[in-house]
Amino acid sequence: MILAAWSFTAWLPELAAVLGVFFVADLVYVIDHYFVHFNRDRYRQTHARHHRRYNGARGGQPQFDDFELSTYNSAGFGLLIAMSVMSLFTGNVGFVLGAALKWVHSLLFHLYQHGWWSDTAVRVKPPPRPRPSWGLASARYHAWHHSNPNDDRFTYAESWAGFDRILEMLHPWLVRFTADARKGRLHLLKQGQGRRP
Ligand SMILES: [Zn+2]
Ligand SMILES: [Zn+2]
Repeated sequence: MILAAWSFTAWLPELAAVLGVFFVADLVYVIDHYFVHFNRDRYRQTHARHHRRYNGARGGQPQFDDFELSTYNSAGFGLLIAMSVMSLFTGNVGFVLGAALKWVHSLLFHLYQHGWWSDTAVRVKPPPRPRPSWGLASARYHAWHHSNPNDDRFTYAESWAGFDRILEMLHPWLVRFTADARKGRLHLLKQGQGRRP
């Protein structure tokens, strides 16, 4: 018992680093995800394909296309390199482990949604509109995002749904910094891409 307590305490800095890196990486991801949804040009060029892919027929298509895979992998690899340097300097292996965990999480999360290890893809049974939760962002929570990209209940997070609740609160202020707001295009979003219940 004493040994277990000692071990846990000894690994606490590593555990904190793993969770910290994972949390910050998810925060960066969710903010970027929000801004791409309010930038029509960037959305069309980079992110719309992600929404189309998960709503389309499964029909033997790859789980990710080359563009998506390279985006996820370069983000994951970049973070891993940066956190390896942190681990080298601090001697805390948690930094590099947190980066690896986030990389694997992003890939597995979407493979699951495409029905990688089940007969029925999540999108085949459309999930109900998620509650405005402060818990973990489940794969079903994210599946709603794929088919309802412009819902005013935000579902941008991949890990902690609380980021979406905070974004919803900040949205009236934050939206003015988006590309669509700066170009006076927010009305287009309301007309053409409203919530599809
Ligand atoms: Zn997705
Ligand atoms: Zn999206």
